[in-house]
Amino acid sequence: MVAGRVAGKVVLVTGGGSGIGRATATLLANEGATVVVTDVDRAGGLQTVQQIGGAASFLPHDVSKDEEWQRVIAEVLAKHGRLNGLVNNAGISGPFPSTFESEDVAQWRRIFAVNVDGVFLGCKHGVPAIRDSGGGSIVNLSSLAALLGTPELSAYGASKGAVRQFTKTVAIECARKGYKVRCNSVHPGIILTSMGESLFKTEALRERARQRVPLRELGRPEDIGYGILFLISDESRYMTGAELVIDAGMSAI
Ligand code: NAP
Repeated sequence: MVAGRVAGKVVLVTGGGSGIGRATATLLANEGATVVVTDVDRAGGLQTVQQIGGAASFLPHDVSKDEEWQRVIAEVLAKHGRLNGLVNNAGISGPFPSTFESEDVAQWRRIFAVNVDGVFLGCKHGVPAIRDSGGGSIVNLSSLAALLGTPELSAYGASKGAVRQFTKTVAIECARKGYKVRCNSVHPGIILTSMGESLFKTEALRERARQRVPLRELGRPEDIGYGILFLISDESRYMTGAELVIDAGMSAI
């Protein structure tokens, strides 16, 4: 029997081919989970699985597509016989800066398709699979952007606000129905991943960002992964509909 904080759990991590998803998949596997990594980026997803070794596998997956969710959940259940955890991590930020005046409808809809439809579909198809496996935990990646105005990332901020609110709806609906499926959101500050670096392209911009962070440091993907690990584990059994903010104090000022 494998030891660890999430030993014996089968956990699906979307967008696991990079950044926070890759770090989370690795931490979950290190703590005993069987991890299914999905991503539109096949090379990145396969690299994550290769780095983890035996306890992980990869499935190609566009989270904005209903039929792809149906296929992925069916494949996980066919291979592993259960699903105990889901990390709805895949997301896009769009070009920076994008104000509500400059943003066009196609870009707005693309960001919502991935960030909001993706989380909706993940919960829609993930909840019954987790419920029928005896219960478990869903973690939705929202953002600090859900808690503040984001004039230069207008669609992104709105999409993460939707994820924050929808998470509570799923949590309460599952609790009322006695499904034993918890659902919480995670709100990262500025994390140095390919998304984070696309927003702060130069070292000068990163230094300016650092000066706005109370702890004076930009985050590492693992800083978020540890929070997600806690929420997937039974250590957080009394938490649902909650917001875990991991932002080095940015939302506190
Ligand atoms: P990342 O490094 O860009 O990783 C995101 C992964 O998701 C990439 O592999 C990306 O593939 C994949 N992806 C994009 N669209 C997809 C789709 N339709 N279906 C499946 N996979 C898709 O970003 P990250 O920084 O780790 O972000 C992870 C999550 O944390 C996101 O939801 C993000 O909004 C949130 N977050 C990040 C920060 C930050 O500062 N980094 C802050 C707050 C919240 P491609 O590379 O091919 O697009």
